[in-house]
Formats: sequence, structure tokens, C-alpha cells
Amino acid sequence: MPDSSSPFLLTTPLAEIRAITDRQVALLKAMGITRLGHLIAHLPSRHEQIEAETPLGDLVAGQLVSARGTITATRPVRAGKLPRLELAVLDETGRLDVVIFNAPRWRIEQLHPGTRVRVTGTPKTRGPGLQMANPKIDVLKEGTEDPELQGARVRPVYPATEDLKSFEIDKVIQKVLDAALLLLEDHLPEEFRSQRGLPSLAEAYRMQHRPESLEETKQSRRRLAYDELLMLQVGVHIKRAHLRKTLKAPALKFNPAIDKHIRERLPFALTPGQEDVVKDIAKDLSTPTPTNRLIQGDVGSGKTLVALYAMLLAVASQRQASLMAPTELLAEQHFASISRMLEGSRVKVELLTGSTPKPERDSLLKRLAEGEINILIGTHALLTESVQFRSLAIAVIDEQHRFGVHQRSKLREKATGEASTPHVLVMTATPIPRTMAITLFGDLDISSIHGLPPGRTPIKTKVIPPEHRELAYAEIEQRLARSEQAYYVVPAIDPTHQDEGDYMPAAVGVGGETAAAPAPLRDVRTAMRDLETRFPKARIAAVHGQLSRASREPVMERFRSGKINILVATTVIEVGVDVPNATLMVVDNADRFGLAQLHQLRGRVGRGSKESACYLISGESTSPTPESSARLAILENVTDGFALAEKDLELRGPGEMFGARQSGLPPFKVADLMRDRELLAMAKRDAAAWVTASPAMDQPHDQLLFRRLIKAFGKELGLADVG
Ligand code: ADP
Ligand code: MG
Repeated sequence: MPDSSSPFLLTTPLAEIRAITDRQVALLKAMGITRLGHLIAHLPSRHEQIEAETPLGDLVAGQLVSARGTITATRPVRAGKLPRLELAVLDETGRLDVVIFNAPRWRIEQLHPGTRVRVTGTPKTRGPGLQMANPKIDVLKEGTEDPELQGARVRPVYPATEDLKSFEIDKVIQKVLDAALLLLEDHLPEEFRSQRGLPSLAEAYRMQHRPESLEETKQSRRRLAYDELLMLQVGVHIKRAHLRKTLKAPALKFNPAIDKHIRERLPFALTPGQEDVVKDIAKDLSTPTPTNRLIQGDVGSGKTLVALYAMLLAVASQRQASLMAPTELLAEQHFASISRMLEGSRVKVELLTGSTPKPERDSLLKRLAEGEINILIGTHALLTESVQFRSLAIAVIDEQHRFGVHQRSKLREKATGEASTPHVLVMTATPIPRTMAITLFGDLDISSIHGLPPGRTPIKTKVIPPEHRELAYAEIEQRLARSEQAYYVVPAIDPTHQDEGDYMPAAVGVGGETAAAPAPLRDVRTAMRDLETRFPKARIAAVHGQLSRASREPVMERFRSGKINILVATTVIEVGVDVPNATLMVVDNADRFGLAQLHQLRGRVGRGSKESACYLISGESTSPTPESSARLAILENVTDGFALAEKDLELRGPGEMFGARQSGLPPFKVADLMRDRELLAMAKRDAAAWVTASPAMDQPHDQLLFRRLIKAFGKELGLADVG
């Protein structure tokens, strides 16, 4: 219950709160903050420890302090590129000399005699007095100064704008904080909280906005991160229970005869890893409980065959199956290879992508609705409304991490007939680290394909600096001499540096901070020209995302059949492309790619029995950072995709890991999947227990948690239709 002693509600518009000025209301609105609740939820991005202020006369060498004073003299001294700025700062009690090395021009202009400043740093004895080198300097404005010297404290630093600075947001929040805290109802029962050492919600917000110590900021962060993780997990459980309870999928026939019949169609005997997964799938699909299974297996582990097995199970029950791929290229390739495997059978397979011409598309949709097509392969074009199946029993999604949860629910709507939903299998070749799998795909069962098909030789990986590009060329030469083929991958299509593909990570290197302008990216056209000059006799062609299917497909086909020796490409070939005679992968500007992505690219080779290699040419950036080289070097030693994915997650964080446009990542405000692994495990256990204890979520504190989780994650989880 909201506390009646507070004059406000969390929904009270800021405009109605007298303590906040119209100007502040307008500036907050520009940040999307219009109500009291938003303001309280605007958490500091970090906290700063402010040292106690000391009168200048009391400064002691070697102690970190803050002090205030007026600049009385300044002297820029030319030295090196940027001058050194020397200042004298005075108060009534004494004097401090300050020196700023490499002072930029704005600093020199800002710090003139008469300016009041607060300096924070550690003074040293120098000559008769004390000197502080490169202290933190805050310029104090007339009238904003507290007359008292301040004691040590922790200051919240808020996400701010040019016109509404952090300190002003801080002031506004302080004015309404006490009233707002009275309104915060906790969704966690007190006993539950104390068992886990978590502060109450009101305490947590107080500690964020008005911390008494850095320790408090940590405690409160822990509580708020836990809340996010718990809510997501509870949401996942509710979703799962809901799907299981309300939706029915077709129970497919499965018996030894069907199993035998399907196996006879497959070109290989299944590997033990494939066998295990096929077993899981057959069990799932023969019940009316909708399957929601993630199949993960390293690059080249043979997921397509497993998908085909599942789809043929649907066909054996006179039902339809679909296979959705993230790119046209991959859809085309699945279509080609599956059609090949099913040649001579009665199974009808078709391809539908965004570039399927209208007349063809119309006829295809008609046959699909009539049930004449058994297996439909395509891109997200499959999700459009006009695509109606007669009886879709299985929807397979390849490379799930390219799609979000929305797409999965959209596919679910495609089933018609007596069963209300198809079984859904999602496949990913980028192994998902456990922590990510739990959050991203917590609503899925997981099967892993262990091991690779027989006869593979490990891929030798070598990182080389750009000035040794010749080494990669020499390797290409050798491969071509043996009638083998090579891929040459670059990050951009043309010299205008346009990033190619949907999946290019935007950031360069670790942390994504680039000081200087980024160096030009290697691009398809330039690489083509260089390679043509170097290998005048070779047949070289290029594919990238801006080529239409009509022009791309023949190129891929000629590469597949060996008529093209070197294929220059962007990341369109990242997943799935399967040409066993291609034994060399060169990635130029490799620092532009994530580890998981490079592992994918490398997985394009080593697909036959021939020994294969991968050359990673590190950045041509102005300063190839040691981190980026170290990051690439990991690939030389680690060949296991799962281990790499963990590393990548650690180094780049979940957002970057799959590239910039990753969809479906839960939008955490506080929680951090890497940092909060332990909290995640706790939240996961707690969520399971919570939903088990109260499946209907009808206890009073359930309601509060439920409402909040719908608000936070309802969209991501596709929970709108639940409850
Ligand atoms: P991914 O898991 O990366 O999608 P694919 O399904 O593309 O892997 O399979 C990789 C390669 O392995 C393909 O050339 C495929 O024909 C081959 N392959 C798959 N399963 C087997 C098997 N059981 N025995 C031999 N080769 C196989
Ligand atoms: Mg694949």
C-alpha cells in the first residue's frame, strides 16, 4: 500500500511537484523522465568518492585530499606538444601550487586568476611548499558553493545532458527522495530478503541516491541487479508454464520403421553427438507438449542433418515443417543441400525469401496452404502474415541468436488445424555461454551436439600483422597450386567504409574506445584489386550483402563447384556456408570481429578431410592495441567454440558478443551477466522455487513482482498474452 504520509504517488507528474522548476521539468522530460517514479528509477551510472575538504594551511604531503581556493596566478610553460600549466591556489589559511602537464587549450582558458576551484589529489613537498600534480579540478560557480568545508562523502554521478548536468539532477532527486521512498513497496518479503542479505527496495534506492559509503552503493546495486535477474527468470518460468498449459502441438508418429526410413534418406550415418540429440528430439516431438529446444553444436558439428531428421518426422506424419535461416545465402544453401538429400523422394521442398518473385511466391503460398509443400525453407520472409501453412508441425530456426523471442512467438502463430502451435527447434552454431543461455533462452530445453563428424583435421590458426600480409598471400598461392580454394573476408563492401552485414560489431577492440579516427576498413573492392594483381591467373569473385540473390547464387554455385578459386566476401558467409574444398580462410581487419564471429568464419574451412588453415590479419588501425592482438591470439590456441564464446563474453560483454544489432538480449539496467554470475545462479534457483510454490502467482507479493516483471521484460519475453 502506498504510504499515505507521502504527498505524492510514484505516478505523480514532475510538473505537479513544486520543488522542481519548469526548466528542470522540461529538461527531464527530454530525457524521458516525466513522473516521480521515473526520476527515482534514474540511477547513477557510478558513484564518486569525494575526499574531505581540508583548509590549504592544513594540507599534509602524501595524503589524498580535497581543498578549495582561488587561483591567484597562472603560468603556461611551453614544453613538448602541449604546455605545462602552473597555478597558485590560495585560501585564507595557506597556498598550494598546482601543475597540470600537457594542459589542453580549453583548460588554460578556463583556469584564469580569480577562478574558484576545488582540487582533489595528493600533494607533495616541493621547495618550501606543497605541490599537487594533475589533480582533479572542479571549477566552482559563484553561488553554488557551500560555505562549510565538506566532509568525506560519496556523490552519485547521473546520466546527464549538456543542459541538465549530473549535479543538478542530484539536487532535484534529493528534494523528492524522502517522499518517494515512502511510496516504494517491496515485492520481496522481508524474510526472503534477510536470508539473502538484500536491503529493502526503499533502502536500495536511498543507498543509490544518497549513499553513506561506497559499501552501500555496492549493497544496493546487488539488490537491484538481483531484482532484474529474478524477474526475468520468474517471467521465463511463467511463460514456459503458460505455453505448456495452454498450447498443444501435434504429437508426431515415431516408431522404428519411420526411424529407419528417415535414416535411409540421410547421406551419412549420424555421429554419436547427432544420435543423442535426435533421441531428445524424437522424444519431444511425439508428445503434444510444444517443444522449445535449443540445439547447440560447434561449427560443422552437423546441425543441418539433425534438423532434417526432425523435419522428416513431421513429413512422416503428413504434416509440414519449416526451416528459417538468418540470411538469404544460408537459406539458399540449406535449400540446395536438403533438396539434394531428398532427391528422388516424394518430399516437396521449396524456398521462400525476400527476393522470391511475386508470381512464384503467390503460387508457392497457395501450394503451402493446400499442404502440397512439405518443407518450406526461407528467411524471416517466412514470418510474414501471408505465409499460411496447412499443418505446420515443426518450425526449425537456424542460428537462433540472430533472431529474438518475437520471431519465435510469431512462428508459433503459424500453426493451424487442431494443434495450436508447432514444435520449435532452434539451432545455434555460435555456442551460447551458459550464463547467456540461461537468460536468453531460459525458456528452452537445451541439447548439445558433442563432437564433429569423422575425418576432420583441426584448423591451424595464425594471427599476422598487416605488414606481413604477404604470408597470407603465400599461403593462398600454395593452396591454389593444390587446386584448393580460399575465402578472403573483409569487413566493408567499398572504400567508403560502409560496414557490411547486419552483424558487424560497431566497436573496435576491447572496450570499444577508439581515441583517433578509426583506420580505413579493408573492403571488398580493394581486396579484389589487390588479389587480382597478386594472382593474375586465379579466378576471383566476390559476394556481399548488397548483391541480389540472382547475382549471388551463381557466384556461390561456381565457388562450390570449384570454378572460382578465391572468394572475397563480407560476413555474409559467416554462417553455414559449406564448401569442403575450400581450405583456407583469410580474415583481413580481423580485429573488427568478435571471437565468436571469427570462430564462425574459421568454421567455413576444415569441412572436408583436407588440412585447413585460417590467417587472421590484425588491424590496420593506427595503433593496433595490445589487447586486440592478445584477443586474436586466443584463437590460435583455443579451438573449442564453447570456450571461445565464454572468453568473448568476458572480453566484450553480451551486447557486443553477437555483434551490434543483436536482438533479444534482455535489457538490464543494473545487472551485468559477467559480473553478476553468482547473483544469476541465485536468482535462477529462487525463481524456480517461487513459481513452484505459487504457480498461479496469486499471493499478494506475487502480484507486485508479476506486475513489475511484465513492465520490465513483458515485451522481450512475449508475455503480453499471459495473465
Ligand atoms: P553446422 O552444425 O555447422 O550447421 P553442417 O550441418 O553444415 O554443420 O555440417 C557440416 C558438414 O558436415 C557438412 O558438410 C555435412 O555434410 C557434414 N556432416 C554432417 N553430419 C555428418 C555425419 N554424420 N557424417 C559425416 N559428415 C557429416
Ligand atoms: Mg549450420
